[in-house]
Amino acid sequence: MMESVERVEVRLPQHSYEVLIEPGLLSSPELKNHVFCEGKASGSKRCFVVTVPRVRRLWAKTLLHALKGHDICFLEMQDGERYKTLESVEKLATQMIKAGADRDSVVIALGGGVVTDTAGLLASLYMRGIGLVQAPTTLLAQIDAAIGGKTGVNLPAGKNLLGTFYQPSMVLVDLSLLETLPEREFRSGLFEALKCGVIRNPAIFEFMEKEHERIIAGDIAALQWLIRECVKVKAGVVEKDERESGERRILNFGHTVGHALEAETGYKYFLHGEAIGWGMIAATMIASAMQKIAAETAKRIIAATMACAPLPKVKVRGKSIARRVHSDKKTANGKARFVLPRTIGEVEVTDGVPDRVIVQTVEELRRLAH
Ligand code: NAD
Repeated sequence: MMESVERVEVRLPQHSYEVLIEPGLLSSPELKNHVFCEGKASGSKRCFVVTVPRVRRLWAKTLLHALKGHDICFLEMQDGERYKTLESVEKLATQMIKAGADRDSVVIALGGGVVTDTAGLLASLYMRGIGLVQAPTTLLAQIDAAIGGKTGVNLPAGKNLLGTFYQPSMVLVDLSLLETLPEREFRSGLFEALKCGVIRNPAIFEFMEKEHERIIAGDIAALQWLIRECVKVKAGVVEKDERESGERRILNFGHTVGHALEAETGYKYFLHGEAIGWGMIAATMIASAMQKIAAETAKRIIAATMACAPLPKVKVRGKSIARRVHSDKKTANGKARFVLPRTIGEVEVTDGVPDRVIVQTVEELRRLAH
């Protein structure tokens, strides 16, 4: 089976690495080789698996069995976006110190984007940086959060305001893990997949339109194609701009309004992907209002976005969101930065969206939700 493992390389000047994609990867006898040889964690190294209780209950045994004979220690953080904090990083680091982790130890991040972001930051800070292997367990983390080296935690003032760029030595994408993912979480990841299509690759967009039923049903072949193509988009963008000084900003399509919606609702009402879904619709409406996109294309993007998953209603007011977008870290000289679609596969980054258009758009989202 392992001959068929798919590999996507992330080629960076200082630190290239591979994303391995395969159903059953974490239970495979080859896992040891991948982690301890290719993943640059030599056999003598101690591994600290950072996870949340639910994922530990479901998948720890599988991982332990595959890595039998190696020194593996599990560390838990609390589940949920509100625990993506510096306090969680500190607690994990303290446990690592107590367990004797040293500079040669390796962190394995086993979880969704909350874990991959938090454990990534932990690995980048612990003793000024130790090895990191990403083992994402949600669709969103498999196609996005675990790849590209952005780590981070939230502050009360906003999302991901503290973080580092810190690349893993390897990313292990096991599609079988998605079998235990709750339906709402799975579908919420589809928004980020569609995002890859809109920003860069029309084939992804068309595949999601055409193969909607298979994807929703969790068809492994369809998902493997989709995940691989999304990973390629992410890798390609990161290769061009590792530190988000230009090109990488296109990955923030949907994030300006999306992050504001999450913050305005206390990170409790929307799942991350759902907020991004609304943000993608908002960005498309804004592009349309500013005559940057053909009406038919805008309609198609909005329809495909709404088909990803049922979206919780938008209940917040346009004015509050307009205020929020200005406090986001993606502002340039106090002006909110938007990624707007021009056509499917091409976007433009601009800070020239008038407040009035933001307010009107969010009011439209409220109507759309009814
Ligand atoms: P999440 O990490 O909160 O996971 C969602 C839920 O699914 C959790 O309750 C978790 O316990 C559960 N879960 C995870 N894997 C499971 C499995 N296999 N089976 C059953 N349950 C499982 O949410 P998420 O959507 O994966 O990630 C969102 C986070 O990712 C946000 O904080 C966002 O900012 C971040 N993110 C980061 C980047 C980046 O480049 N670093 C990119 C996109 C998103």
